[in-house]
Amino acid sequence: MCGIFAITDHPETAELSNLGLFALQHRGQESAGIVTTHKGELFAHVGMGLVSEVFSRTLLATLTGRTAIGHVRYSTTGASHLKNAQPLVFKNIHGPMAIAHNGNLTNAMEVRAKLEKRGAIFQSSTDSEVIVHLIARHQGPVEDAIIESLRQIEGAYSLLFLTPEKLIAARDPYGFRPLILGQIGKSYVFASETSALNIIKAQVVREVEPGEIIIVEGGKLRSVKPFKPVRPARCVFEQVYFARPDSNIFGRNVQAVRRDLGRALAREMQGIKADIVVPVPDSGVSAALGFSDVSKIPFEMALVRSHYVSRTFIKPTQELRELAAELKLAPVVDTLKGKRIVLIDDSIVRGTTSRKITKSLRAAGVREIHMAISSPPIVSPCYYGIDTPRAGELIANRQSIDEIRKFLDVDSLHYLTLEGMLKAAGAGDPEGYCTACFTKVYPTPIPDYQTAEPAKASGDQGPEHQSLM
Ligand code: SF4
Repeated sequence: MCGIFAITDHPETAELSNLGLFALQHRGQESAGIVTTHKGELFAHVGMGLVSEVFSRTLLATLTGRTAIGHVRYSTTGASHLKNAQPLVFKNIHGPMAIAHNGNLTNAMEVRAKLEKRGAIFQSSTDSEVIVHLIARHQGPVEDAIIESLRQIEGAYSLLFLTPEKLIAARDPYGFRPLILGQIGKSYVFASETSALNIIKAQVVREVEPGEIIIVEGGKLRSVKPFKPVRPARCVFEQVYFARPDSNIFGRNVQAVRRDLGRALAREMQGIKADIVVPVPDSGVSAALGFSDVSKIPFEMALVRSHYVSRTFIKPTQELRELAAELKLAPVVDTLKGKRIVLIDDSIVRGTTSRKITKSLRAAGVREIHMAISSPPIVSPCYYGIDTPRAGELIANRQSIDEIRKFLDVDSLHYLTLEGMLKAAGAGDPEGYCTACFTKVYPTPIPDYQTAEPAKASGDQGPEHQSLM
């Protein structure tokens, strides 16, 4: 759960990076950073908090240079500390270098243990630093060192590297996380989502392909594909929940995909009797619109989200998250009283937030609640960078659909089928997705987590793996 951004050879590189990161803020709110390069040196500023809290005009003016990379972070490995904030900046035999990483490696602990045995000293607890150490151990041109390092890691990565001479973008062979290439004038732009390109008025060129490495040097762009091709495993959850609705990722507009997911859900629930369709804002809005299109049941914004809940309440602890849920959503009693409603959301993780919502709906006098989820039950954790909790905390991992229905106190509970979700999301390529959190079928080896899982099941979080969703 991170966002990355880069721009080459532009006179306002720090300002545009700041804007780009702002448009990726939904991908991470714990820390933000920008690194620029000028006359053989790197200039960095990273800090804890939102982009608007980390960067001021004055500060941006100190980030000299025409090329930059930036990062917003939401930790999936490594604790929420400044030392783990990215971009990470380091110096090795290749000179100064910065790295920004979106995704999660699945063999980082294994590789780290081997490196530490050989004397490597790590500064942070992020999986991304493993890549830094691997690069430092390879001689020769920096892109060869990067390629050789990436051959040794498993899992999900969309990466940006900055050196005084080059900007290098890399996407893992499975293409778990999105990475978009754009252009503004003669400058190249890379971003996790098109929302960051749109805000700076850059044109979308294309997606960086799975397994592709793009090198920008001296204003010219080169592409290499050094890895053996594999079947892509794009994260379907990016489209279901995580990416911004105005972004286009994996070849489709996210809002349109979510609306199609809602349409598919309505077709699967044909015959449901209800007076209104109510989304859980903001996550269920697009799917509820699609559901209403097909079912012809009127759409009503009968839950109102407060956008003024202090950031104090979105800190990543379960207790604060639960408090925030109560403060954030208010039922519109006049619209809901005595009604039969279809309540739409994109997913149920622990079930605790949904339970609070249904409780407040009952208190508002709703007669029947038919809960409809625009994805299948989440039964297994994500190890590729979306922050789901460990298996034991996922309600669908330990309870049947009817047990969940009873827990949520709803009259009926419907999940979109896997086939329905892939067809709606896939637009011609339903095969090219990762669905591991719904199916337990992981597209890559997960050595770090295979050993960590017994500890997780007994209530131990494992090595600094946080559950923040
Ligand atoms: S496990 Fe789920 S959330 Fe993680 S990459 Fe796969 S589809 Fe996405």
